Amino acid sequence: MIKELSDLGKRLREEQRKQNKLIHNAIKDESMGIDLLIREDGSFESFLAFPRKITQAEAITAKKGKARLLLDKAEEVLCYKDDAYVEELRKNGQTEAKIEQYRKGVEAKHALFIGKLDEYRELELLSPVFRFYNENKAKGIENAIKEFSVQIDKEQRSENISFRLVGKTERMHEYPDVQNAIISKFENEQNELISTLNKKCSLCGTSDFPIVDKPHGTINRVPGGLPAGNILVSYNEHAFESYDLIGNENSSICINCARTYVEGLRWLLNNGHEIAIKGKNGKEETKFRFTNRRNFGSDTAMVYWTRGSYQLDELDLLETPDAGKIGLLIDSIVGGKATTVNTIESNTFYSCTLSGASARIAIRDWIELSLLEYRKNIGQWFDDIAIEYFGGTYYAPLYWLARAGHNEKSDADTTLPRVATQLWNAALKQSRPPLWILGAVLKRLLYIEPPEEGKAKSDPMTKERASLIRLVLNRNRKEGGYVMQKRLDTENLSPAYVCGQIFAVLVDVQRAALGKDVNAGIRERFFSFASTTPASAFGRLMKMSQNHLTKIKGERPDVFFILDRQLQELNAKIVGNIYPATLSLEEQGQFALGYYHKKQETWEKIQENKALREALENDEEVAK
Ligand SMILES: [Zn+2]
Repeated sequence: MIKELSDLGKRLREEQRKQNKLIHNAIKDESMGIDLLIREDGSFESFLAFPRKITQAEAITAKKGKARLLLDKAEEVLCYKDDAYVEELRKNGQTEAKIEQYRKGVEAKHALFIGKLDEYRELELLSPVFRFYNENKAKGIENAIKEFSVQIDKEQRSENISFRLVGKTERMHEYPDVQNAIISKFENEQNELISTLNKKCSLCGTSDFPIVDKPHGTINRVPGGLPAGNILVSYNEHAFESYDLIGNENSSICINCARTYVEGLRWLLNNGHEIAIKGKNGKEETKFRFTNRRNFGSDTAMVYWTRGSYQLDELDLLETPDAGKIGLLIDSIVGGKATTVNTIESNTFYSCTLSGASARIAIRDWIELSLLEYRKNIGQWFDDIAIEYFGGTYYAPLYWLARAGHNEKSDADTTLPRVATQLWNAALKQSRPPLWILGAVLKRLLYIEPPEEGKAKSDPMTKERASLIRLVLNRNRKEGGYVMQKRLDTENLSPAYVCGQIFAVLVDVQRAALGKDVNAGIRERFFSFASTTPASAFGRLMKMSQNHLTKIKGERPDVFFILDRQLQELNAKIVGNIYPATLSLEEQGQFALGYYHKKQETWEKIQENKALREALENDEEVAK
């Protein structure tokens, strides 16, 4: 996985190089916001603050214990000690020793900066800077320190400071000769390391770059991670070290591969663009949309990419399904059109699910597939989640399916990200979603939401739950077990499935007899009972329904005829008229689907049959 990330990072670098955006590994984008203007003789002229912009300066992997050549903050450049900060420390009751510690810290940073500068003493171009710090320091640095807090606003003081000669537009760290000096120093150091270490990198298999004990760089915007960034590979405890290797030498990753995997992962987590959306009040708004990342809840995200260039439109389909495009996808897989196959068969799809775990990154899942498989699997996914809804076929967005087992009322419920992770896996790898998901969904079916003022009671058996149940049941099907179809299947004789249909008819019987104003109908009161222990529940339910049927027979004989015949036909499918005593988890799922499918069929019947429509009139619950 790290190798693939590193390859991605190398590809990104290659693209940058082509666009002349990348000069060398030793140079990197940095920000700057203040110019320190000096004269040839090293005397200080003035500070000039400007809106922060990007410049290219020496690349350093980690800030701590390091200084950058000619571009850094006021502490490093000027040995600037913030008096206001010291005042604050005092006010907060900090000891003088603590304040002294702060001062010493600033001095140490400044010393590092000067030390770095000294390494470039032979560069004639930089002599104004050396005069600023040494020969002419009274008019130079000492003057600058006095003026800094006078000329620069408090809010701007933490920006990076760059050196600029009066009359020039280029900053001194941007001079080509300065950058060339940085690059050649960098290469000399590397070559020396390679010749002394002479070890092969486990990712690129070469010894072109050294393997050293240096931090690999932090990765920002990891879900659930630290604001300062997280680390993927790190050996910071002695317990992880072995064979006399120190720290990150243990990873056997050369500095080039380390840099590129970090850049690859950073890009995946951050790449995106602004899109225009219609806001709530119909106004145009812009929203940032990640191109290679999906978030699962607040603490988990999935990043994905391909080895070659390929637009992963299928992933958008998973989130906003479009029946037309799904049809095209399935057709192209079944048809195996030669042109599409050729362009994608050599390509690979990668995805990695990750979470922040204190300062580290926890990898939850890793998927590597040929692009052909990837498309086939997504086609299969839509086949498996399809469900009948109001006479058509419904494909639920993946995230809505993940919500189907989630308890919206509980903040502590972590079902959503866990189910979402499993479902992405199921969609991409064609894997089996675990049965505990079925348990979570069935639990939600028992929870009856009190209706909002003026609204009908809503049935927790939603199309998304039906779809998810169907998916989990079919993918976990044992050999010879019933395949659950997307719509009512009269050939399916599973007693649990038939019982679910009977239950749906009994709900209609009650509705036709008593109208919609029943406070707690049999669905609310008996769903749990009937779907776990049908034998005892149906004994009572059948008795109740006899009274209802008698009433309907008197009032609406034609409706009685339809409902009574349905009950007889369904009961005839129960062998020996013996309802199952208990239902397993899978059977409870079949029961729920039977109930859902039967309701959908009733909706269709209602469209054709006026008497039935009137009897079940205002039944907003039907088919919802
Ligand atoms: Zn390498």
